[in-house]
Amino acid sequence: MIVERSASIETPHSSNATRNACRLCAPLGAVWAYRGIANCVPLLHGGQGCATYIRRYLIGHFREPVDVAASNFSEQTAIHGGAERLATSLHNLAAQYNPSVIGVASTCLAETIGEDLPFLVRRTLGRWKGDGPPPATITASTPSYAGDHASGYRAAVRAIVEQLGGDRPGSDHRIGLFPPMVSPADLRSLAASVRAYHCEPITVPDPSEAFDGGAWADLETLTAGGTEVRDIAAIGSACGLVGFTNPAPEPAPQDLLHERYNTPSVTLPLPVGLTACDQWHSALETFSGTSMPRAIEAERARLLDAYRDGHKYVAGRRAALYGETELILPLARLLWEIGMVPAICATGGDAKGLRRELDSLAPAGAEQIQVLSESDFMDLDAGIDAYGVDMLIGHSRAYHLAQARHLPQVRIGFPVHDRMGAARIRMCDYAGTLELFERIANACIERAQDGNSVGYLTM
Ligand code: SF4
Repeated sequence: MIVERSASIETPHSSNATRNACRLCAPLGAVWAYRGIANCVPLLHGGQGCATYIRRYLIGHFREPVDVAASNFSEQTAIHGGAERLATSLHNLAAQYNPSVIGVASTCLAETIGEDLPFLVRRTLGRWKGDGPPPATITASTPSYAGDHASGYRAAVRAIVEQLGGDRPGSDHRIGLFPPMVSPADLRSLAASVRAYHCEPITVPDPSEAFDGGAWADLETLTAGGTEVRDIAAIGSACGLVGFTNPAPEPAPQDLLHERYNTPSVTLPLPVGLTACDQWHSALETFSGTSMPRAIEAERARLLDAYRDGHKYVAGRRAALYGETELILPLARLLWEIGMVPAICATGGDAKGLRRELDSLAPAGAEQIQVLSESDFMDLDAGIDAYGVDMLIGHSRAYHLAQARHLPQVRIGFPVHDRMGAARIRMCDYAGTLELFERIANACIERAQDGNSVGYLTM
């Protein structure tokens, strides 16, 4: 291993085979994004197995029904191409769901045989045989061998903005938001903050209701909620656009819109932790021309107070973070802010962007972080052996590792299949940070209690 003079060391995947990877498939991220557009049906150009796997993962996490259509590749399609099946699927979906939008994402097999998705969709729409005009149709290229669920999500959000975005006048009191894959509760918190400054949010995408809605009296084919197409068509005339750290080389949605319509835009760290929340609220003050409301000042004060109360439990503790780059970055930043050490950062995707961002964020004198690139849980296990941690912070799939190592596990991100309430786990904004901080502090206390014979004490 080469030790460089930077805040992090990147360790590549250690074997030729990946077992239990820290990542999920790319079209899953695209489905997540498409579910955040009002009256949108996601369609995978590929096999039924891909749609079933994605449905199973999303339903297990959110405990809500999630419809995902597939063009249903067969052995014949794999040889002769799926143009006809795609055309049939688009017509069937339009007839059965009457959607405003169909969001199409490619799968591994479709990309491997070289399907030109934008061309096939254009040709189908040009020869439309359905009753009435065809729905708006978005396409995103999401082969899983070229990325993970987070890159699939980013590709779909870019496609939504490129293909539906516009600058229809009349939205000058609105603020466009481009969040990463955060929970419905976090999406609601971000939107509530925008409203606290007397502006309306246009969140692209907003699956908060589709993934965390109420009980239905009757079956609904298209779930309620999501960002309206007419709002996306007006996003270029918003008074401001806020996007969050983009680890990818492709331009972020706020940059695309800024370039196209000269809309004021800013790219911020996700508001997790006091400093990042301060930057978020400062941007809201600038775009809205309104000072921070008293209720938000009070939330900020409560977070600061909790930091003071909990510092003695968390200071110097070490954690392993794992998941997608967009989750690891704000978590690492938070850990540094509260005096903990993000000793290991493991991602199933390419860690170049992660490492670059971590190097720029690390406070002076911070311990060097071990960044595990394209990693699986075997790599994470080896990293724990070598560097030692007090807890795991990430999704449920490290459960077996946490059990084997007798480590507390703070569940956050996706998927959380083995606990209730995944849709309502918060980390964003002052109040969400406070909840996460207390969960981390309590994990530190739990570990200290479990490791000593006295156990419970009044603290
Ligand atoms: S084949 Fe590719 S797209 Fe389909 S489920 Fe597997 S990884 Fe995902």
